[in-house]
Amino acid sequence: MTVLGPSHDGVEHASRCSDLDLAPALAALEAATSVTILCHVQPDADSLGSGLALAYALSRRSVPVQVSFAEPAELPQSLRSLPGRDFVVPAEIVADEVDLLVTVDCGSVARLGALADRLKGAHQTLVIDHHRSNTRFGSINIVDETAESTASVIARILDLLGTDVDSDIAHCLYAGLVTDTGSFRWVRPGTHRLADRLLATGIDGARIARTLLDTHPFGWLPMLAKVLDTAELVPDAARGAGLVYAVVRRSDVDGLRSEEVESVIDIVRTTTEAEVAAVFKEAAADSDERWSVSLRSKELVDVSAVAISLGGGGHSFAAGYTTNGPIEDLVSSLVAALA
Ligand code: 5GP
Ligand code: MN
Repeated sequence: MTVLGPSHDGVEHASRCSDLDLAPALAALEAATSVTILCHVQPDADSLGSGLALAYALSRRSVPVQVSFAEPAELPQSLRSLPGRDFVVPAEIVADEVDLLVTVDCGSVARLGALADRLKGAHQTLVIDHHRSNTRFGSINIVDETAESTASVIARILDLLGTDVDSDIAHCLYAGLVTDTGSFRWVRPGTHRLADRLLATGIDGARIARTLLDTHPFGWLPMLAKVLDTAELVPDAARGAGLVYAVVRRSDVDGLRSEEVESVIDIVRTTTEAEVAAVFKEAAADSDERWSVSLRSKELVDVSAVAISLGGGGHSFAAGYTTNGPIEDLVSSLVAALA
């Protein structure tokens, strides 16, 4: 288990962030004759919003651009509210060869899923991300692990490109910013400045946040009742800092969206007695031993390192991995990784 020191203050973040050399990325974007932008599998608002904002900017420079993600086949419902959906193409028609391939919010090749094979057909590859665990798999890598969202990194790039950030682009960037900061809980110097600037374009921040984070069908409530009833506290885990976890079976979420499943961790992680929270999510009804796992911590434990040790990745305080096996074994493995 990696224990974090007390140096995670915003002042340090701000200075470290300005060291990032964006020049190679700008040169690649300015010279590109065709661009593919790939989001991670099961895209979230930060990945898709970043991709669409960059697509607007390139398209206005008359550069042909496609945005895609390997799975699922359809966009999650809440993300269909973002402007720029015309840039999104189904994974199977993403060009095999392209001048510049850009990945947004992807910490590793594996996060591209079946579209990872498009990397080899690209003349250049540009990785734009903010994950601590990023493996730097591009020919150019812009990875700012101090950034609160990939959308924030894109905003800086668009400014340097001289892009007019209008309400469509602002909507896309705000979607990434509001979700990855947990509605402005996890913020740093500059976060609110960016939000202010985006809101000044006339976008409806309340509505964007409500659509992405605060809208669930009634069936969410009985699902939560069932899932939260599985919650267990392991006070000795994480060297006595405590682990809380819950289990989401496919049968609990029948007919519900990924948005409902992903909401569970935000309730479980609030448990006072546990520094680390985990939600085990059964991946598919027909493969009942495959799980994706969400991890969150508060301030002591680097869950990115824990997730990496279990085959995944993420940020210091929000990470995840995918795994196989009976749930009891998965809990034991997690407790062991936290030891
Ligand atoms: P979430 O719990 O919201 O799905 O993910 C939290 C963070 O962990 C995200 O930043 C996400 O990119 C990362 N993450 C989640 N699952 C995986 C995974 O299977 N592999 C990797 N590399 N990262 C993951
Ligand atoms: Mn992100």
